[in-house]
Amino acid sequence: MPYEPPIATNGDLLSEFSPGRVPVLLPYPFAGPFDYAVPPHAAYEPGDIVLVPLNRRQEAGVVWDEPHGPPVAAARLKPVTARLDAPPMPAALRRFIDWVAGYTLATQGEVLAMALRVNALSAPVAPPGWQLAPHPPDARLTPARRRALSVMGDRAPRTAGELARLADIGPSVIRGMADAGLLLPAPVPVPLPFGTPDAGFVTPVLSPDQAAIATELADAARAQKFAVTLLDGVTGSGKTEVYLEAVAACLAAGRQTLILLPEIALSAQFLSRFERRFGTAPAVWHSDLTSRVRRITWRAVAQGQASVVVGARSALFLPFPNLGLVVVDEEHETAFKQEDGVVYHARDMAVVRARLSDAPAILVSATPSLETLANVEASRYRRLSLAHRHAGASLPSVATVDMRDSPPERGKFLSPRLVAAVEATLAAGEQAMLFLNRRGYAPLTLCRACGHRLQCPNCTAWLVEHRALKRLTCHHCGHAEPIPPACPVCKAEHTLAAIGPGVERITEEADALFPTARRLVMASDTMPGPNAAAEAARAIEAREIDLIIGTQIVAKGWHFPHLTLVGVVDADLGLAGGDLRAAERTVQLLHQVAGRAGRAEAPGRVLLQTFSPDHPVMRALVAGDLAAFYAHEGAARRPGHWPPYGRLAALIVSADTADAADIAARDLGHAAPRGDGLVVLGPAPAPLAVLRGRHRRRLLLKTRRDIAVQPILRAWLAQVTVGRGVRVDVDVDPVSFL
Ligand code: ADP
Ligand code: ZN
Repeated sequence: MPYEPPIATNGDLLSEFSPGRVPVLLPYPFAGPFDYAVPPHAAYEPGDIVLVPLNRRQEAGVVWDEPHGPPVAAARLKPVTARLDAPPMPAALRRFIDWVAGYTLATQGEVLAMALRVNALSAPVAPPGWQLAPHPPDARLTPARRRALSVMGDRAPRTAGELARLADIGPSVIRGMADAGLLLPAPVPVPLPFGTPDAGFVTPVLSPDQAAIATELADAARAQKFAVTLLDGVTGSGKTEVYLEAVAACLAAGRQTLILLPEIALSAQFLSRFERRFGTAPAVWHSDLTSRVRRITWRAVAQGQASVVVGARSALFLPFPNLGLVVVDEEHETAFKQEDGVVYHARDMAVVRARLSDAPAILVSATPSLETLANVEASRYRRLSLAHRHAGASLPSVATVDMRDSPPERGKFLSPRLVAAVEATLAAGEQAMLFLNRRGYAPLTLCRACGHRLQCPNCTAWLVEHRALKRLTCHHCGHAEPIPPACPVCKAEHTLAAIGPGVERITEEADALFPTARRLVMASDTMPGPNAAAEAARAIEAREIDLIIGTQIVAKGWHFPHLTLVGVVDADLGLAGGDLRAAERTVQLLHQVAGRAGRAEAPGRVLLQTFSPDHPVMRALVAGDLAAFYAHEGAARRPGHWPPYGRLAALIVSADTADAADIAARDLGHAAPRGDGLVVLGPAPAPLAVLRGRHRRRLLLKTRRDIAVQPILRAWLAQVTVGRGVRVDVDVDPVSFL
């Protein structure tokens, strides 16, 4: 990590944590903590979660480490109201919050909000119950009472109902025992929605290659030292199997593990696999948890009861007191980049989180990011690779279908070669998949009479037809409208034509071609939530499905043992935008999709429909030579100091009017930093020049890798005052350039 100091501290103002006052960080975008007076007889430690007055309300905040503001007489400060009954925030998380704020240019308070947003502060309500008295008095023991005593002999608190059921007694017996002092009231602990994983539940038999790597990773987990390992290797080589051994070592050492997955909604297969290995499901953390489960899980993490958490990027902000290992699975996934609010990359921040907890980090991928590979090259990360698929399964063979030589029928999208391959696969009783990374029916609707294209009223974007819903929707802002009966401009009827395919349209085509195949469509809008994904995976594994038609969610780590053919409907799709990582992302995505095929005995094959079979991306995929692609891509980025060989930070200006956006962008352009090893590109209209009704302009700072962008950005932004209603968002290490 290039970025060194966290927030500069005001040590020269008040270097001691003075007893009469404490700094309290609140979960709002203020520049830093506010000081509060400590009432007589109270004392607070950094990390304590407290209630303080703020604008006539009471707000929860966290006692921070350095007094912040200029010294104000303690008498003029408002006092802290109370300490909340919540586990204190560990120092490692406080330092992490400081670090993320410093790196992303967000305020500490905004980052704290991500750690407190869980509304987890109020304790889960523990139901009332009974416990065996520690020194039971002599009392008359009826048979019913004896049964109750033997049930309660393990000293665990139980509700009256549970005790009555287990001991087969009535409520009057319990009341009598309480009156006699045999039972004392005690709250019953809230049951946890997960168990305690057992490191030795089922230890796998690893191949010699796997075992060697598992040993190294487990040693790293036991060492309790920060180090980053890239675990790569072809799809199906056993990477998950191997890193679970590091998790086992961490469990055995009594420390906590965090496993980040890019899309937790699609993790059903992972969770059941975890359960087979460790005997119980791990704690999970994502935005769809009920608030009750959230509160219970948050506390269990804070109290060290949750030994393994599998989560989305927000799990980075959980209050682990004893974090011993961080795993980032599918580390190349762009879903790890959070684009709203605090803009951060969870993979990179996971490495920081590990460092601040003196824990090792493991980044896992069959198609690592160029960023991670550059860190390996520079010896910042070590690399362990699994070269072969497990149990002799072979990698699928990949071939291109040149769409100029084998064009589909007019108005269709599947070439005769792909159709024949699907037919042969289905005839052999195997499963096939058609992949197209586009939701809906058609990405563009135009009027054949006047040429008008149906566009989102709020965004610079075409409306996407979703025929099943009979609606046109904007994939950027969510705007939806019915499909109009006539062209809104020339009023001609029956002239609106769907242009290009989405998965719905491919499904329609497949219906006509393979009418007896049992089909399943997998797209984020047809399969919302973890249960739908889990059910889909089950049905596919159970061979209740013959043909899978899906968007990018089918690429994500699934294990489909009976799938032998993958057809990529439009392999060129991701290359069109031409942004910095278009080729890299296309290789990663298509390689991952291809990797779903041939994972068991039957070999798999992949057909890529393309108009440019000679493109380096297609050649790399056909040759199965990702190393050559990475070398080629690296060589292309190095001379211009493009990431990972240089740094980028974007400023995104947005305003209600185009003029306001232009003025602010121009002012920022005039104030642009100059110097050796840095250049500012823009301002220019963003590709999404209007988004949700806001006009957008972009500037891009590019620097050499040895230059930290944060001080430059701070100085730059400090020079410019933007008008009312204008926002300037900062995106350090941008992934999206829209
Ligand atoms: P990757 O994470 O590299 O894609 P996985 O760990 O998912 O690979 O392994 C692919 C498949 O092979 C899984 O079904 C897994 O259970 C199985 N597998 C891998 N290694 C072993 C092993 N040593 N013993 C039994 N099954 C294994
Ligand atoms: Zn829109």
